[in-house]
Amino acid sequence: MKLICANFKMNLTRNDIKNYLNVINDKIKDNVIFFPTSLYLNDFKEEGYKIGSQDISFKDFGSVTGDTSVLQLKDMGINYTIIGHSERREYFNDSKYVNQKINLALKNNIKVVLCIGENLNEFESNQTIIILKKELDDAINNNLDLINRDNLIIAYEPIWAIGTGKIPTIDILNKTILEIKEYLKSYNLNLKVLYGGSVNLDNIEELETINLIDGYLIGGASLNPEKFLSLINKVN
Ligand code: PEP
Repeated sequence: MKLICANFKMNLTRNDIKNYLNVINDKIKDNVIFFPTSLYLNDFKEEGYKIGSQDISFKDFGSVTGDTSVLQLKDMGINYTIIGHSERREYFNDSKYVNQKINLALKNNIKVVLCIGENLNEFESNQTIIILKKELDDAINNNLDLINRDNLIIAYEPIWAIGTGKIPTIDILNKTILEIKEYLKSYNLNLKVLYGGSVNLDNIEELETINLIDGYLIGGASLNPEKFLSLINKVN
């Protein structure tokens, strides 16, 4: 079964969450991980769903106002964390901390969904694979001994596809995912690669023709529970 990560980002209120849980009741399998705002992690956990945090702090504890420690999230029962989402890289300079955050998460037995992806300029100037290799190197360096197929998942998310309704052509996506997997082999790694960026009901059947995709990271299309259920029902 493919892995499906639902990234709510900074969306939904407490009432929305209650309604969401009522709608998805018993219709979600073990391959789906919810990444709500930290405030609502417990609501999903109490209902028995797998949960992940959208980020962790680069430090384990201490004077980092506004951050949440991996140790606190672990206490709460998270199974996964996203690291290096393009929004964190853009607004919070997170590329600088990706390596350190992966180290902290893996040492604490939290599985990591590592986001990598090129921006539109880089895509149009054929630099995609150069960017992806650099982001993979930055993440893996010094952490190789901690990484295995079970605990590091790559989410390929072209930045220009996130929230825009655009996705790469199937040929380009197939080629890029193949290149990512080939590059990981040079580290002796065989990791799952998810696709993220405007996955929705209109393109899921087309995306499902790519055998190399091991799952999806879904943002906007995960916010409406009815639509999300229809979407994931189309995933093999
Ligand atoms: C994301 O931000 O991880 C994402 C995939 O968003 P969307 O599905 O809304 O493009």
